Amino acid sequence: MDNLKNVLREGRAFLGVSLSEEQEERILLFVRLLNEANRSLNLTGFKTEEDILVEGILDSLTALALEDLVFVGESLLDVGTGGGIPGIPLKIARPSLKLTMVEATAKKCRFLETTLRALGLEDVDVLCERAETLAHHPSLRERFDLVTARALGSLREVLELTTPFLRCGGLAFYYKGREAEKEVEEARKALEVLHCSVRTLQEVAIPFRSRKTTLVLVEKKAPTPPSYPRRPGIPKKRPL
Ligand code: SAH
Repeated sequence: MDNLKNVLREGRAFLGVSLSEEQEERILLFVRLLNEANRSLNLTGFKTEEDILVEGILDSLTALALEDLVFVGESLLDVGTGGGIPGIPLKIARPSLKLTMVEATAKKCRFLETTLRALGLEDVDVLCERAETLAHHPSLRERFDLVTARALGSLREVLELTTPFLRCGGLAFYYKGREAEKEVEEARKALEVLHCSVRTLQEVAIPFRSRKTTLVLVEKKAPTPPSYPRRPGIPKKRPL
């Protein structure tokens, strides 16, 4: 555990993120809980605590480098959160965020509820339903300042699943890899149909790893046409 704590300390310093002792302890507890439940619930592809910490949690925190986002008092929706990534690390680092997490699989939602209690995180909602369905609910549609998704699908697919939740003028940020530019190119029609535009692509180095994450920042310009998102499964099967 001590070693893990050093990795966290060095890693967050590398990213320029400051955390209190209590926030660090919460992150390390989250790593342990994710690792324990991982095998039975298939929460993440990462096999070791260090990989969960570096590739899952520190990767989540790269978004704190985005200058256009303040992460203070804003409402954030994390769609397809799985075991709580990136939502939970961002909420630990920026406690004033009003976090809502969407996850379609019931057993993952149960893990999220237990984990939020264990971490003492308040003001977080877990919605156990597909995004395609929730996005048509008036209390959720166009209600969020920020939306995000990580490892949920291609950009064009994820845009349809997430931007309907965003208020006009709100911002979406997506965690992408080397293919980010190609995905943006392929999402041209989706961006047009959904009245969104890409503001920036920002590459952030991941501590202790050679790979980089590309954060794609998208702005919503006008309301989403009522027919989007299409029925469950269609955004993936026939992406815009
Ligand atoms: N964001 C997490 C998990 C990625 S796996 C991480 O980075 O580790 C994608 C998750 O999205 C899975 O848990 C899956 O159950 C969920 N999911 C996939 N499609 C969804 C949809 N349409 N609505 C809600 N959740 C969805």
